[in-house]
Amino acid sequence: MVAFLSARDIARIVGEVGARRFWRRLVDYLRQDFARWDVFEKSPRYANHSPRGVIELMPTSDADAFAFKFVNGHPGNTQFNLQTVVAFGAMADVTTGYPTLIADMTLATAFRTGATSALAAAHLARSDSKVMALIGLGAQSEFQACAFNAVLGVDRLRVFDVDPEAIDKFERNMADFGLTIVRCADARSAAFGADIVTTITADKKLATILTDDMVAPGVHINAVGGDCPGKTELARELLLRSEIFVEYAPQTRIEGEIQQLDPEHPVTELREVLAGRRPGRSSSEAITIFDSVGFAVEDFSMLRLLRDLAWETGVGRKIDLLAEPANPKDLFSLLHPLDAEQEDIATLIKAGQAA
Ligand code: NAD
Repeated sequence: MVAFLSARDIARIVGEVGARRFWRRLVDYLRQDFARWDVFEKSPRYANHSPRGVIELMPTSDADAFAFKFVNGHPGNTQFNLQTVVAFGAMADVTTGYPTLIADMTLATAFRTGATSALAAAHLARSDSKVMALIGLGAQSEFQACAFNAVLGVDRLRVFDVDPEAIDKFERNMADFGLTIVRCADARSAAFGADIVTTITADKKLATILTDDMVAPGVHINAVGGDCPGKTELARELLLRSEIFVEYAPQTRIEGEIQQLDPEHPVTELREVLAGRRPGRSSSEAITIFDSVGFAVEDFSMLRLLRDLAWETGVGRKIDLLAEPANPKDLFSLLHPLDAEQEDIATLIKAGQAA
């Protein structure tokens, strides 16, 4: 039997643990896994591109567990009332190879992306940062707002989306969170006066959500929506005058904002900053960019946390995912006719239906 957590189960876990404690624990798990980076098997993710989007597989493992996530990115989906991003993930025991957990990763991806962004900003943004511009108010946006509030205490937001209904939805969802939210007319006015700018839009093109002249010295940019070849959000000139931080350089060079730059352009992996081996921002005037694309180790941390919290809270259930014959060499036995006891039950059911 394999443990199974649906999105509803994850929501229940968050409710039982408390949202603030959940965010902090997730950030702790991410921090632990970034600290033991070298033990993970790592590779750029496998991506299957099609005209409308991408389907990706994101595997990694340590000495005990293997994990992978299936995730798509289809920016046109919302026109058909479908989500841009859906995902599920699994963990397996490397000693036996048996899967141990299968879980929703749509909700979980939004949590882990928000937590990773906030963790990066805690090390890269100016320590007095209080105002964040949030550009792109789709499925991920509330999770970014909550993560930055829980981890950095950011409580003032300047928000913009090309879709006014997405702004209405965001304001409704955030109404009880004690945040000051300023609705802005465009991305330029959202970025004006912000200490942190988060771009989290979805469009399958080389978009320019932020141009060079929209960003003041000292700002930290959390660039989340550009995560695929040919799909970016920042102007090249802005990248050229900024200090750039990434999750796993071999993957980000293919998918991130830095796909616009020379392949040798210097970038720093976030784990180096977390470990204290490389500095974060060089001065209060520097512009820092976290060029986020999402990496498999973050999903590993998320699944590890869900596994532990499912155990602690008793939420979730076991599903009959695997063929498990009593004799491991006798898989064929599963094709045998019903045994005597099952036949008796089947006869009783049929008799009941006939009556
Ligand atoms: P979504 O489709 O639900 O929301 C995207 C929003 O962006 C929409 O409301 C849309 O109106 C808005 N938008 C599009 N173009 C815009 C523009 N020019 N200016 C302002 N707003 C604009 O998508 P989502 O699930 O919220 O994901 C957002 C992006 O984040 C996607 O591109 C997705 O691939 C990416 N993402 C990245 C990570 C990561 O780890 N880096 C993780 C999850 C999602």
